[in-house]
Amino acid sequence: MKKSDKLGHYCGVVGIESQKPCNIPQKLFYPLFALQHRGQESAGIAYFKLTENKIYAYKDLGVVSDVLGRYLHKDISSTCGIGHVRYSTHGGSKVENAQPFHITCNKGNIALAHNGNISNAKFIRKELQESGAIFQTTSDSELLFHLISRSKEENIQAAIKEAIDRLEGAFSFVMMVGKVLIGIRDRNGYRPLYIGKKKGLTAIVSETCALDSLGIQEYREINPGEAVTVINGEETSYNLDLDAKKQNCIFEQIYFARPDSEIYGESVYNARKNMGAMLAKLDRENGGINADLVIPVPESGNVAALGYAQESGLPFEFGLTRNFYAGRSFILPTTEERELAVKTKLNPNKSILKGKKIILIDDSLVRGTTSKILVRLLREAGVKEVHLRLSSPELHHPCYYGIDIPTTKELISNSKSPKEIAEFIGADSVKFLDIENLKLCVKNPENKCYACFNGEHLYPQGCECNC
Ligand code: SF4
Repeated sequence: MKKSDKLGHYCGVVGIESQKPCNIPQKLFYPLFALQHRGQESAGIAYFKLTENKIYAYKDLGVVSDVLGRYLHKDISSTCGIGHVRYSTHGGSKVENAQPFHITCNKGNIALAHNGNISNAKFIRKELQESGAIFQTTSDSELLFHLISRSKEENIQAAIKEAIDRLEGAFSFVMMVGKVLIGIRDRNGYRPLYIGKKKGLTAIVSETCALDSLGIQEYREINPGEAVTVINGEETSYNLDLDAKKQNCIFEQIYFARPDSEIYGESVYNARKNMGAMLAKLDRENGGINADLVIPVPESGNVAALGYAQESGLPFEFGLTRNFYAGRSFILPTTEERELAVKTKLNPNKSILKGKKIILIDDSLVRGTTSKILVRLLREAGVKEVHLRLSSPELHHPCYYGIDIPTTKELISNSKSPKEIAEFIGADSVKFLDIENLKLCVKNPENKCYACFNGEHLYPQGCECNC
């Protein structure tokens, strides 16, 4: 199993329906590319081929440009398609777990792409297996097919509703039933899902940055517990359950979503900047820090660092240069290898840092291994003091709703206080944004999930497959 010192996101989804036949695979490419940050291990699309009246799916391990670039040159006439990008650790980089999934069953030709994690998956899987179901993947997403197919309801919308009623946890689905596009968001709204329109084209996406790539400016959030069906440009919405407690994942705003996206009805950029500004206010209230510069750990700390700098009046500088070609870094077995991996990805800019006392801003602290190496590299570059500030609260608990968090034992905040963490990583001080002050940085804080910080999980069971 590969371990990263950052939290891992599971997926991003896109669905497109066009009134006029067009090259749907090509149209899916750009929004999926915009969502690449939500998953880099596999990519795939499914589309309705008009000439053959059936759904085709193509998926593979790799990033969007490698897997789907071939579709930019193909001439395919279609009116509906869905796409998916996936990140995984536990389920492994298996091509059979790549999405979209595609089946033919008694309800028709169906394709599905899923963002999230169904927290009661193991119970439903066991029940289905005991009644004879055969699973092709270890993914929890496949359960939906089985539930839809087994439904006694003949109407597909009723069958979907019956299936969704059984599921708990986080899911934003895009589906195709023949050439009908369907978007579904779980009743608690853990993961974002947006729908937008432009000139006969309707798109359903995980984040609004994907709508920007299609030039769509007219959009809305799909409500938690809402299902939207799109046929020939006509949108029909039906409610699965609108009264459940809202649980928008706060980590989308802290780290996962792109800063140029809007999610949960507000700009990710503004929310992140508020978090940085709040860290500066708290430092000021505690007597202030005699520092020279505010430095982000790029890219995840950029916007919060800007917020900190503007609030504190300290200069903002890029003291670390990120090598964008280094990819995702995983925990390597030896200290030397780990150090080389961090150095390859983040290189200190000595001309800016030498002799300076810095406020270093990052989004979160997982195991502390990367921060420890980073602080040493900064010291070697001549930094006199390092004050690490994190724009999230301390991580103490697992997530059952689509985010890959290491085991409770591995989380550094479960074995060390902020003062001990500072000693461990070699920083002069470490401070986290606490939950109450984080709530002041976002709209509708009462509708957010904070379970990985406070352990208040709405659905306690995890998915056995950890796909
Ligand atoms: Fe997001 Fe944490 Fe809740 Fe998971 S537990 S949904 S990461 S806030």
